[in-house]
Amino acid sequence: MLRCYQVAEFGKPLVAADRPLPVPQGREVLVQVERCGVCHSDLHIWEGYFDLGGGKRVVAANNGALLPLTMGHEIVGTVAATGPEAISAKPGQRRLVFPWIGCGSCPPCRDGAEHLCAGAQKAIGIFTDGGYASHVLVPDEKYLLDIGDLDPALAATYACSGLTAYSALKKVGPLADHHTLLIVGAGGVGLNAVALAKAVTGQAPVVADLDPAKRTAAMQLGARDAIDPRAEGALKTLLKASGGVMAAVDFAGSDASFGFAYGALRKGGHLVSVGLLGGQATISLGLHVLKGLRFTGSYVGSLAELQELIALARRSPLPALPITARPLAEATESLAALKAGTVVGRIVLEA
Ligand SMILES: [Zn+2]
Ligand SMILES: [Zn+2]
Repeated sequence: MLRCYQVAEFGKPLVAADRPLPVPQGREVLVQVERCGVCHSDLHIWEGYFDLGGGKRVVAANNGALLPLTMGHEIVGTVAATGPEAISAKPGQRRLVFPWIGCGSCPPCRDGAEHLCAGAQKAIGIFTDGGYASHVLVPDEKYLLDIGDLDPALAATYACSGLTAYSALKKVGPLADHHTLLIVGAGGVGLNAVALAKAVTGQAPVVADLDPAKRTAAMQLGARDAIDPRAEGALKTLLKASGGVMAAVDFAGSDASFGFAYGALRKGGHLVSVGLLGGQATISLGLHVLKGLRFTGSYVGSLAELQELIALARRSPLPALPITARPLAEATESLAALKAGTVVGRIVLEA
């Protein structure tokens, strides 16, 4: 039997259900879930909408048509069964699942950017049943990654929060010693970025977060400094100390976080926007041009980027963000804790 915890109605407690175990076909692989991270986007799906700002909303789960839906896209598990055409996947292997699966035939998918699929998206735990379950069916063995000796709970967070952080930092690229990197928002993804920043950009970041506990966690993960963006004169002080930051990554995505990050840029600076809090911004195109700024959106990451990130983590252990383990049956309580904003780091469910 497959036991799953599903969104049956938006905003209501998840419902436990038992289903027959799927039998993998073709190159499909059935994975027995060991760990599944609880992501902020699960919160949006559970609540039923993504806020696009300005009163615009997207209703989750294809307007609710996909309910009941098993969420969960940060999955580490063991191969339980394989389809007849699977070659490399073998029962007993511990694997991380790449969840950002696309249609495979639209232009972004053909470019290897399935996470930006413009066709029928099949992202696991978003559009198809995911890891808040005893088992998950993965459509092709190519989406499985060998995590070696990595801690399975930490490795699970690499599938979304780690990958999102890694892809955003890769867009920043290498920074020189006289460059300042600013990270705004030290939630699960932001903290993963703090942990990865040195390895990917060469520089430890300055972190801005409203919550003192998150600033402390950021310092423990190697931040150069951690500041309260609402403190009197915070932006001025940062501009004075750094001469303006060369790159900023906004992991919040509110009007205020964008304003702080964009306002902190030096001439030639680059802002990468990641957070989905529904903010909106008006920028002066003249100043944008005269200061030679760049502004880039970054959504999760590609299969190739997740492979790079796992290779990086296996080569040289990265600082681990704080992880709270909870039993799978407490998925609803975990979502509630995330909603309350009291989670430092990541909650990872244990199946
Ligand atoms: Zn996620
Ligand atoms: Zn596609």
